[in-house]
Amino acid sequence: MDKLHEMWENFQLNEEEGAAIDIEEEGIPKVLRKGDRSLISKIWSDRQIGKNIVETTMAKVWRLSKPAIFTKMGKNIFIITFATHADKNRVMSGRPRFFDGQMFVMKAFDGYTPLNKMSFDDVVLWVQFHNLPLFGMSRECGERLGSSLGVVEEVEVDGDDVGWSRFLRVKILLNLKKPLARGWTITLQGLKTWIPIQYEKLLRFCLQCGRIVHEEKGCTVPILMETSNRQFGSWLRAEPGGQRFRGSSQTWNSSLTKSSPKEKGKATMGW
Ligand SMILES: [Zn+2]
Repeated sequence: MDKLHEMWENFQLNEEEGAAIDIEEEGIPKVLRKGDRSLISKIWSDRQIGKNIVETTMAKVWRLSKPAIFTKMGKNIFIITFATHADKNRVMSGRPRFFDGQMFVMKAFDGYTPLNKMSFDDVVLWVQFHNLPLFGMSRECGERLGSSLGVVEEVEVDGDDVGWSRFLRVKILLNLKKPLARGWTITLQGLKTWIPIQYEKLLRFCLQCGRIVHEEKGCTVPILMETSNRQFGSWLRAEPGGQRFRGSSQTWNSSLTKSSPKEKGKATMGW
């Protein structure tokens, strides 16, 4: 299809072919009624995923009021139509989603962009910035650090815009095709500090080039490093269930019950 598209761009159109047909009023409300309950999705996998397997699997995983209907639109690209808006919103808000460990990118319905022009290269992940000085744990600092990785959607802070914790958590729209940043160097009063970055729910990524979009066996980047000198590793994955230890009593208590004895000791001393 892409090749055909390139051919058309070189065509010399006759008068009839070149006269634009205005489709502005043609059936848009009907499509929108369906589109409003739909998401456009892509599973980032090298192998072809069948419509039936993904439909059946996700019906079990999502536990919707009624199973969603999948329409195959290309290699691993599906439009997912939900029975209700509530089902759609619940699935959308649970990003990132995965299918068999592969990134399952979902986008809001867009009736204007042809599918071959649509990008599925972005994914929303919670990112943790570790080792920050206390002055660095603010909404503003989170936005500054996060925007150097992608588009910031949310910074996890308290009502006073301060996010004191073991790390600052920022929800960011990241480009899957860019290597994962391993950390940033910050300066505060002239003092340089290395801020390690960890990514939550980072299942599969390429240990060779640090991109989420493929695994090592699908990597096309030339092998430059010996395995013993890898620049990327599983240490980029945040520990599952990374709660913040914040000052509010509810969060504090629930965190304490889940923390290790060592962390408990530290926390008690902190109070
Ligand atoms: Zn790679």
